[in-house]
Amino acid sequence: MWVPYSDYGRLTVDSYRGRTQAELEGLRELGIARLARVPPFRKGSVQVGYRKCGKSNCRCARPGEPGHGPRAQWTRTARDGSRGQVVPARMIDQVRAEVRAGEEFAAIVADLVEVNEAICLARMEPSRTKPGPKPQGEKGGP
Ligand SMILES: [Zn+2]
Repeated sequence: MWVPYSDYGRLTVDSYRGRTQAELEGLRELGIARLARVPPFRKGSVQVGYRKCGKSNCRCARPGEPGHGPRAQWTRTARDGSRGQVVPARMIDQVRAEVRAGEEFAAIVADLVEVNEAICLARMEPSRTKPGPKPQGEKGGP
């Protein structure tokens, strides 16, 4: 069974209702394998901006000039406060890709949480297709 990548992060445990335990375990393996292939990533976001220096004789004061830049900064909030880093212009695309990879990682993890829960729920449902062996000690009397 194939779950489109774009569905990650949108599926809930209900999305997996009706799947067999074996199918769910296959999805669990698939998710873990995808997780392992996510390149190095970071959380947070990248802001890119241009700045006017205010000098009237500077080229940034001319009409249509965006200003100095691009100046980019990566920021994220963490348990120990927020973090930030100035991103050189040549690294903006890479840092954006790292942030996207972080979103990808989080979406796969969120999906794995649902898949794992679905497996645990499926384990507790009585099997309708395969009746298990009769418990010992019920047949025959004393
Ligand atoms: Zn300027």
